[in-house]
Amino acid sequence: QPVLELLGIDRTYHTAAGALQVLQGTDLRVSPGELVGLVGPSGSGKSTLLHTAGLLERPEGGSIFLDGIDCLKLNDNGRTSIRRRKIGFVYQFHHLLPEFNAIDNIAMPLMIAGVKKSKAREKASSLLEVMGLEERAYHQPGQLSGGEQQRVAIARALANDPKLVIADEPTGNLDPTTTERVFGTLIKMVREEGAGVLVATHNFALTRHMDRILTLKDGKLIDYVE
Ligand code: ADP
Ligand code: ADP
Repeated sequence: QPVLELLGIDRTYHTAAGALQVLQGTDLRVSPGELVGLVGPSGSGKSTLLHTAGLLERPEGGSIFLDGIDCLKLNDNGRTSIRRRKIGFVYQFHHLLPEFNAIDNIAMPLMIAGVKKSKAREKASSLLEVMGLEERAYHQPGQLSGGEQQRVAIARALANDPKLVIADEPTGNLDPTTTERVFGTLIKMVREEGAGVLVATHNFALTRHMDRILTLKDGKLIDYVE
């Protein structure tokens, strides 16, 4: 069973200038352990697709199955709950909470999902170890290097064992060595856990690792040909 299945997704923005249909009957299937890259120029609809797959935006048409659950049949609370339990997000600008240390930033999504603080910290601590950041557990984001912050952000995205990881330029401003290390860790973890990954990126160092690379054309996903 796919971890993510988008079927016939329609998404139109209505503005003063008129209607703009960004997704037009878009289909996408992501299998467990599969890495799917999304490329394309600015304005082609990458963010719209990621937000839709991440249940942050509701399309006008189509179906979204996450881990077999028909998400658009759920109400807002139901979708939020699925999002928190089954999806991990990694952003270019990592959105770590500046006033919390690394371990609490990672434990946060678990605590929000109702996991007890001690259990959440245990999990966060093991993720810090996987990321090679045990020494940084009690540092706040501002005391960490860019690469370390990004690793904390990835650990946080993986904290609740998501079925789907959605990443938007996950290694944004990192140098090539750190990019390989950070992304390599993400790949290893999702392959082991059988999660699916959807990554929007322009970074060739990342697309090299993808099982498939897609791009949006006329509101539909097609294979990207270099
Ligand atoms: P990308 O991430 O590839 O740059 P987006 O999904 O952000 O593309 O945007 C796709 C198109 O939809 C663009 O033309 C953008 O201007 C338009 N768009 C995105 N969000 C909105 C919105 N909230 N309201 C109106 N138009 C939008
Ligand atoms: P990188 O090579 O990953 O960019 P840096 O050269 O920025 O790392 O930092 C090297 C080390 O110094 C890192 O391990 C980081 O934790 C530590 N460090 C960087 N900035 C600060 C800071 N403001 N306060 C405390 N430690 C810091």
